[in-house]
Amino acid sequence: MTAHEALKTYFGYNDFRPLQEEIVQSVLDGRDTLALMPTGGGKSLCFQVPTMVMGGLCLVITPLIALMKDQVENLRRRDIRAAAIYTGMTYEQQKVALDNCQWGPYHFLYVSPERLESAEFRERLARLPICLIAVDEAHCISQWGYDFRPSYLKIAEIRDLVARKACGLEDASLQNGSTAAYSLKTGLVPILALTATATPDVVDDIQERLAFREKNVLRKSFLRSNLSYVVRQTNKKADEIVHILSKVHGSAIVYVRNRQRAQELAAYLQEKGLSADFYHAGLTSKERATKQEAWKRYSSPISNSEASNIRIIVATNAFGMGIDKPDVRVVIHHDLPDTIEAYFQEAGRAGRDEQRAFAVLLYDPSQDKAKARKRVADNYPPEEFLHTVYHKTCNYLGVGADSGQGATFFLDVYDLCQKMHLPILTTYSALHLLSQMGYFSFEEDQEIQPRVLIRVQRRELDNYNLTDAQMTLLESLMREYTGIFTDLQYVHGIDDHTHQLLVSLAEKRVISYVSRTVANVLRLTVNRQAEIRVPEHFYSQRKDHYVDKLKAMVEYADNQQYCRSQLLLSYFGENDAATCGTCDVCREQKKNSK
Ligand code: ADP
Ligand code: MG
Repeated sequence: MTAHEALKTYFGYNDFRPLQEEIVQSVLDGRDTLALMPTGGGKSLCFQVPTMVMGGLCLVITPLIALMKDQVENLRRRDIRAAAIYTGMTYEQQKVALDNCQWGPYHFLYVSPERLESAEFRERLARLPICLIAVDEAHCISQWGYDFRPSYLKIAEIRDLVARKACGLEDASLQNGSTAAYSLKTGLVPILALTATATPDVVDDIQERLAFREKNVLRKSFLRSNLSYVVRQTNKKADEIVHILSKVHGSAIVYVRNRQRAQELAAYLQEKGLSADFYHAGLTSKERATKQEAWKRYSSPISNSEASNIRIIVATNAFGMGIDKPDVRVVIHHDLPDTIEAYFQEAGRAGRDEQRAFAVLLYDPSQDKAKARKRVADNYPPEEFLHTVYHKTCNYLGVGADSGQGATFFLDVYDLCQKMHLPILTTYSALHLLSQMGYFSFEEDQEIQPRVLIRVQRRELDNYNLTDAQMTLLESLMREYTGIFTDLQYVHGIDDHTHQLLVSLAEKRVISYVSRTVANVLRLTVNRQAEIRVPEHFYSQRKDHYVDKLKAMVEYADNQQYCRSQLLLSYFGENDAATCGTCDVCREQKKNSK
């Protein structure tokens, strides 16, 4: 089967988009490849098509569970077998997924980079018929990318595991003729890294850390000719937003920096008669999905008499990954993002349909510069503060000296700060820094599956006057979760009705029930240390880097001289672009030259 046939047969598309074909071919040639394409360019197909051509299993490493689930759903809808493994799945479920990948005709296995740390997983990995390793959002592997994830560094090791097996042509790889033959020919399973972050230092770093056999970058231009970049200086941002939204019709995203502001601003826009809602990572996935769907349904003013459709979503940067709405007409930034990369990605969600669209950054020079300075201080507290947070957190969690390795906690940072007299923002930063230094892993806003513990003996259940529905539920829980009498067990498939039943059982004290929530998860990776050691340069490097990125963002906002499109493109290493003619700077210059 050719790549074109696979594109048509499995995905129903007639043509490749620009550069997709070259990337697919590079992978089929067995070459390690770094694909740079702006968000929405169609990166997923670049690993999906060659996998279908080769007929093996593609291991996809991707940082966000939401993205994973989305893609697996999409593939399944096309009758392509795909599995995902993520936190919160039971051991049984993981085993089933891996068995499917090993023995069944599965083509995609999505995992988070953290999974690569597990010895058990690695062992299974070596037995899977892997023909390609796809590293999505590959900038996460680079310290110079804007959301570095330490576990991404394990990918190079994984490739060795897989490769050794493929070369030896043992058991599993022989299951599938074409995969085996393919791996034999090239010796190593190729890696395809994909990202929309294309600054030259990141590009080099990714290839190095993934141990590319030879450098190989395929780059699609980041030019967005239908997108007008605008910076609007104002000290009345909320009113300016109302003004913009009354001029530009159609779907809109307004990005803000914190959750409370998202909520307040959405309320303000509603007051002004606009159809708006808010979105942030503190909501459960169900709430987020509902809001997101309502926003996605909105298309044009005529077909949107339904009150359930939302025109404007006011969101933190948690919104947008994996969301593919073509007709967004304007993306407004209420505050400066941390980096140009983040700005470009978020702004780039406007105008995917190639129709005219706007990316507006609101800028209040003196205020925003002061805020930027404060952001640096909040993100990089003094080193001594890391010690303080480390020990206070351990004390708060009841972790004694020289113990605690492997212990996992749900951490309410707000409560920690109150009880231990810590400032909230800097404490968050310290927790992340400590996490990067390897003392523990700290992940914010993880969705925690509901958990149940049955508190009474089986034979005592008769004394509780339970309804048939309650009894049936308990029985099925007992069947499915063996440890449920001794420990809280993660339970799956809890719909609203089941949730109500569980609540009623908890009220009768028959069970303990922790319903689905969003929480921060902290896991100690080493025993509590007497002293923490900040590696040399670790701190200063990161801080300097952060400051540099933020400076570039401020320069973009301050700029009134260069075409904004040109400025952004040159930041990403494209120096030959023409002026756009539609950004605020170009317009101003046209006006003046008349
Ligand atoms: P990226 O990962 O680069 O942000 P995606 O892979 O999520 O982009 O693709 C964005 C959208 O473009 C998806 O809806 C996808 O189905 C669509 N798409 C990708 N390639 C093609 C193509 N060749 N023809 C038509 N639609 C495509
Ligand atoms: Mg993508």
